[in-house]
Amino acid sequence: MLEIQQIPVLNDNYIYLIHDNESGDTAVVDPAVSEPVLQVLKQNNWQLSAIFNTHHHADHVGGNLQLKQQTACNIAGCANDQQRIPAIDIKLAEGDHLSLGKHKIQIIDCPGHTTGHIAFYSADAGALFCGDTLFAMGCGRLFEGSPAQMLASLNKFKNLPAQTKIYCAHEYTAANAQFALSVEPNNPDLLSTIERVAQLRAQQLATVPTTLEQELATNPFLRADSPEIRATLGLQKASELAVFTELRERKNNF
Ligand code: ZN
Ligand code: FE
Repeated sequence: MLEIQQIPVLNDNYIYLIHDNESGDTAVVDPAVSEPVLQVLKQNNWQLSAIFNTHHHADHVGGNLQLKQQTACNIAGCANDQQRIPAIDIKLAEGDHLSLGKHKIQIIDCPGHTTGHIAFYSADAGALFCGDTLFAMGCGRLFEGSPAQMLASLNKFKNLPAQTKIYCAHEYTAANAQFALSVEPNNPDLLSTIERVAQLRAQQLATVPTTLEQELATNPFLRADSPEIRATLGLQKASELAVFTELRERKNNF
């Protein structure tokens, strides 16, 4: 069985440890820093086998070198971005897979936030580790990629089972919710979610992971077909891409 541990670090980053209790294999997703990871490994008496990097940003790869030095783990990242992933060993592209014990981890190519960006999907755990592509009620900023790239990446995630847990790399939920509300103020699922998020954050609890089902109901960036969103934007008859592009633009200035 795969066990997942969530480590909050820096201002709003999440690092995830994935541990297979049969083989003992353990991976860490996007280690922004090394110390908290080493601590959790030690507490559980786990050995690190691999680092899974979704993309090159410092708050996702910052712990790579130290962790590799201390644990001799392998580092797996995006083939398209291999020159920007520190000490990369395993270069991954769409359709590739890794293993944690007998569990398969599938690679989904999802550019947009950066030109090289991948997600790690475990059907066995029902878990998607999507870095800065999809957030609870939001999506990543387009630092390098185009709206069309990001939309295509998000649409790939829509094909996963609805119950899939979405392990995104940041706690951006409360701020994202305010934007979502501004474009779809009468969405009842959004209104109830916002209440639940406010309660969690008041206790400084994580709102992540979310689920795909939850995001399909509340995340404006997965809801370009919503009549209310289209009406808010004045884009009733526009393409999905035009609506998505306008949403991303408005969020940048929100
Ligand atoms: Zn990033
Ligand atoms: Fe980030």
